[in-house]
Amino acid sequence: MQKKSFILIFLIVMVAFFMLWHYMDYIKHEKKDLEYRIYKEEALFMQKNLASMIDEKKKSTTAIALTLASNEMLPILIKNKKELHKKINSLIFNFEHYTNYKNIWVHIIDKDANSIYRSWTTLKGDTFCQTREDLQYAIKKRETVSLISVDIFSINIKAIVPFYNKKNELIGLVEVVSHFNSISKKLKKLGVDSVVVVNEEYSKYIKYPFTNMYIQKCYIANFDAPQSLQEYLKNNNIKQYCKDMTRVENGYIVSAYPLKDYDGHKLGFYIMFKKTETISTEGLDFFVFRWSVFAILLLMALAGVVNITLYYMMRKQKSYYKNIIDTSSNIMLVNDKKKIIDANKTFFEYFKKYKTVDEFRKENTCICNYYVEEEGYLDKGSVAYGWLDFVLANKDKINKVKMEIDGEIYYFLVNASLISQEKEHYSVIFSDITKEEEYKKELEILNVKDTLTNVYNRRYYEQAIEKEMYNAKRYGYNLAVIMLDIDFFKKINDEHGHSVGDEVLVFYAKLIEHSLRESDSLCRIGGEEFIIILPHTNRDDAYKIAEKLRIFIQKSKKIVPITISFGVTEYISGESKDYLYKRVDEALYEAKESGRNRVVAK
Ligand code: GH3
Ligand code: MG
Ligand code: MG
Repeated sequence: MQKKSFILIFLIVMVAFFMLWHYMDYIKHEKKDLEYRIYKEEALFMQKNLASMIDEKKKSTTAIALTLASNEMLPILIKNKKELHKKINSLIFNFEHYTNYKNIWVHIIDKDANSIYRSWTTLKGDTFCQTREDLQYAIKKRETVSLISVDIFSINIKAIVPFYNKKNELIGLVEVVSHFNSISKKLKKLGVDSVVVVNEEYSKYIKYPFTNMYIQKCYIANFDAPQSLQEYLKNNNIKQYCKDMTRVENGYIVSAYPLKDYDGHKLGFYIMFKKTETISTEGLDFFVFRWSVFAILLLMALAGVVNITLYYMMRKQKSYYKNIIDTSSNIMLVNDKKKIIDANKTFFEYFKKYKTVDEFRKENTCICNYYVEEEGYLDKGSVAYGWLDFVLANKDKINKVKMEIDGEIYYFLVNASLISQEKEHYSVIFSDITKEEEYKKELEILNVKDTLTNVYNRRYYEQAIEKEMYNAKRYGYNLAVIMLDIDFFKKINDEHGHSVGDEVLVFYAKLIEHSLRESDSLCRIGGEEFIIILPHTNRDDAYKIAEKLRIFIQKSKKIVPITISFGVTEYISGESKDYLYKRVDEALYEAKESGRNRVVAK
């Protein structure tokens, strides 16, 4: 069970970690995805913001041009160049002073597309009738035109407005030119760096490059284009950025917006860069935190469920085993080398005084306090649980104990085995063998005892005399035997009946047995013939004992008065048991022959 549940827990933990790992990976991807979406949105916003800035610039440029063109003095002023220059310069100054519009260029063109006046140069008189379609369009259509265009200096925003005399005849055009620099500056304030790029095919027309900056033959129109970004574009092929696009790369949100002329031709691109680190993603960190906490809580809940399930499984299993142990008819104990730790129900059926192991332990240091010492059974040993060591060391042998519990004698077979190496716990099983033991003992008694008189039988005599002869010879002590036979017993039978004869036998056998010493053994060797083995006794003493017995019996006169004849002899070291028997038998014979009721010692 333990191994199984360990594997189960291990598998669940592994699966949970695998799931968590994947989940966190998924959350990380999700965060990246969200981040990317935020950056993309930012890129689109940058484009929209730029578009509205350009539109505003176009409109303000047109507004200046319209203001100039609507001046009634203009048709007259163009004839006086000095005055015109003064007026326009003061206008430009005012604009630059009171508004945000810096670096305004004003260009006056006559109705045949010849340059009359340029605010930024003294160059004049050149014609645009072949080169400037936008100017021709404005002259032809007499319309205000607002556009982005590439000229010999740069790419810029232009507003072209026709102006008329009082007769409403077209006199010429006012062209106001503004640059992208101010837009780039505004973007910079918003954390956006920009590079205004003119496509290669249009860069060719720029004869007097204003900034004099090029990347791979593409003209860079804004002064504030950071050097690092110019390098970046150079190293990454600028052409791939010259398209309407947004992307996130190398820590930048890149957004390119096309700069189109009035026909829709893409003249160049406004390439904007914003560092991703400037975009706050705190919300996303919280997103990751929230889902991580959720995952951990989920995992903890899962662990809780697994734990509870295992707990109930173990409990069920435990109660299952406890049931088995409790219903066993054997006493089962869990022990260490010092005390009982646990006991089954059966234990308390024997030790009725106690209800718990603690109660038992309070009064008993060891179960061995109940052991009764007897040959063939374990004794307490000198150490409290020495007997347990003995059982553990002699597992292959039959170990039995005799216990006295509340005055009753029990016999148990004892088995013990180690159940926990770490805790040094042992299981000890006591199997009740009282009935078997008692039966065996009864059998043993029956084997050596005479069934009628309950004194030793002939078989016992044969064994005992041999043992005593051996000891007497070995240790050099005296050994005597007395043979006795009831006189005229036939007569008793005949006169009083066989059962009275039996009674006489039983009574006098007991009487003789009780008059003997503990070490002497009375054996019935024939019908009414007995032998007494007397260790540590010589012939004379044996004679005295026999004589005492003879007188005692003669006097007792119970049931039927009887007399007994005795033959006495002493063991001669080295003689055989048959010879000893023969000699004592002869002594008895002599006692009979010489008149009975007497002792003859030989
Ligand atoms: P003696 O003085 O010569 O010994 O005469 P006795 O009559 O005793 O003769 P013996 O010893 O030869 O005979 C023994 C008799 O004891 C024979 C038998 O009937 C009787 N006897 C032997 N065993 C038993 C017994 O178990 N019960 C009874 N009632 N009588 C027994
Ligand atoms: Mg006899
Ligand atoms: Mg007899």
